Amino acid sequence: MSVDACPTCGFEWSRVPDEALASRICSGAERLGEVVATGSSAVTSRPLPEVWSPLEYGAHTRDVLLLMRDRIVVALNSENPSFTMMHPDQRVDAGLYRNDTPSLVASDLTTAADLLVRFVGALSDSDLSRPCQYVWPEPETRSIRWMLQQVVHELEHHTADANHGLALNANQSHIETELEPTGESPSGGPT
Ligand SMILES: [Zn+2]
Repeated sequence: MSVDACPTCGFEWSRVPDEALASRICSGAERLGEVVATGSSAVTSRPLPEVWSPLEYGAHTRDVLLLMRDRIVVALNSENPSFTMMHPDQRVDAGLYRNDTPSLVASDLTTAADLLVRFVGALSDSDLSRPCQYVWPEPETRSIRWMLQQVVHELEHHTADANHGLALNANQSHIETELEPTGESPSGGPT
């Protein structure tokens, strides 16, 4: 089965032309960095126990940028290599992001995007077409070009996730504020 669009956000990989890869990676990292850098408690809190905080989404996406840079090196030098999952939840559980702060992750996103984009500028058309086996969203033959399109997708998809988490957390704190004890009894008299 060929999956041409993200089942969640509708992103279509093939709609990112080669000449837009670098600019979309830079602007995507900038936008996600801006969300993370707000640094409020809404950035570091999980809206639900099973949903990552905006900061965790930022850290995950930074790791994607770094990982893809290395995967491209492998795909340039091996015939049709197979890439397995990056163990996203296990990274959180292992404490990989425990010492990450909003300002560090925002800065990391800029650095990681810059490192990847400098590499992209050195790739030829035939480099971009080199094949690899990718397991997500379905096991399929992809290419270095697709992996870079997937970086754009990760940035844009997870920026939406992070913004959604911020909104949920803001709503949650609003509810908590409304329920906060005021020192007055429900009738308004002295307690
Ligand atoms: Zn998506």
